[in-house]
Amino acid sequence: MRFVELIEKKRDKQELSAEEIRFWVEQYVAGEIPDYQVSALLMAIVLNGMTANETTSLTMAMMNSGDVYDLSAIAGIKVDKHSTGGVGDKTSLVLGPMVAAAGAKVAKMSGRGLGHTGGTIDKLESIPGFNVELTQADFIRQVNEIGLAIIGQTADLVPADKKLYALRDVTGTVPAIPLIASSIMSKKLAAGSDAILLDVKYGDGAFMHTPQRAIALAEAMIAIGNGMGRNTHAIISDMNEPLGNAIGNALEVKEAIDTLHGHGPEDFTELVLEAGAILLMQAKCANSIEEAKEKLKETIVSGSAFEKFVAFVQAQGGDVDFVRHPEKLPQATYVTELQATHNGWIAGVKAMKLGTLAMELGAGRATKEDKIDPSVGLIINKKVGQPVNRGESLVTIHHARPLDPTWMDELNSAFEIVATPTTRQALIYAKL
Ligand code: URA
Repeated sequence: MRFVELIEKKRDKQELSAEEIRFWVEQYVAGEIPDYQVSALLMAIVLNGMTANETTSLTMAMMNSGDVYDLSAIAGIKVDKHSTGGVGDKTSLVLGPMVAAAGAKVAKMSGRGLGHTGGTIDKLESIPGFNVELTQADFIRQVNEIGLAIIGQTADLVPADKKLYALRDVTGTVPAIPLIASSIMSKKLAAGSDAILLDVKYGDGAFMHTPQRAIALAEAMIAIGNGMGRNTHAIISDMNEPLGNAIGNALEVKEAIDTLHGHGPEDFTELVLEAGAILLMQAKCANSIEEAKEKLKETIVSGSAFEKFVAFVQAQGGDVDFVRHPEKLPQATYVTELQATHNGWIAGVKAMKLGTLAMELGAGRATKEDKIDPSVGLIINKKVGQPVNRGESLVTIHHARPLDPTWMDELNSAFEIVATPTTRQALIYAKL
């Protein structure tokens, strides 16, 4: 097979066979096909799309490029949740313990943050001692014992995605539904859970800018997941403004702990309950969404979700003193308020801008090699729909170095304040 023929086929809008797609992925991972040829094929896919069959073949070929986890030694239905990425998205830190406390088995592999979006693994690592690298045997044992484990993606999980994603990143070929769907689903399928819930974000801070595009991506991923015998559902949720109030690693862990104690932000708590209820249904731990939500609320009221979080942190080597006393988590040297310059109502809190500014403080990475400072970040004090008076704090900045005035101007421009009352749009646009 000559790779140029595959490029020509896709250029001419023809369908690639499963065998051709396997050849592409295997030979590329083996270093037998140069980046420039794969770049051309990727661009042809961005422009001409892929059929459902092609997308499934690509997902399978990528999944089989590395380790495929076998979780059959874990009793019961294993559930996994995946977010397509956002700002302030600490959902897994709360959802995992809640659904595990309600009886589900959560065997989860998470990623690190890149660019304006954060990653669960970085957040967990702000707890001193927390170990995100478990052997497969320890991962399985922990899920059997306490119902919850969250580990980082190993180097051998879908190596094809690592190589292809790095190439897509520098060739303008990230935003294509078949490529995003196969990238995400190859990792979810390789990670081995029986049931998958996808939280597909749309809006300013997300890959997909409109709910319609998010639905199209969700449908492509659901088709792949269900086609592979995994019970796959999705929620489509808003990422125009950050989720909850905290952006930044230790700050988000504190907000997650508050939420486990029943004092979380309203939007974040709503998302956790909606997503958790679907997961409990997928795990067959509830007979209806209403019953599932009641069970989840009970895990908060009884303290069982928080105790599950403590057990999970302890099992992965974290110092639980920091969980029981979150004020001990890493603290930034400086704390500064940004005050509103006039009265009005909040019409917009721009997630992308805030995520990027938090990254510049040290809460995220511009490149994979950057080091994270767990202590820094932002606490959003005013969200869309709320009134604000001149002089009130819009955001509390936790920082390690003095702030640059142009950075402060940028921060101010993330908040849109208007003269007439505003309303917040629904957090959850659809459930599929
Ligand atoms: N997240 C992924 O894992 N892959 C993509 O292509 C986009 C988002």
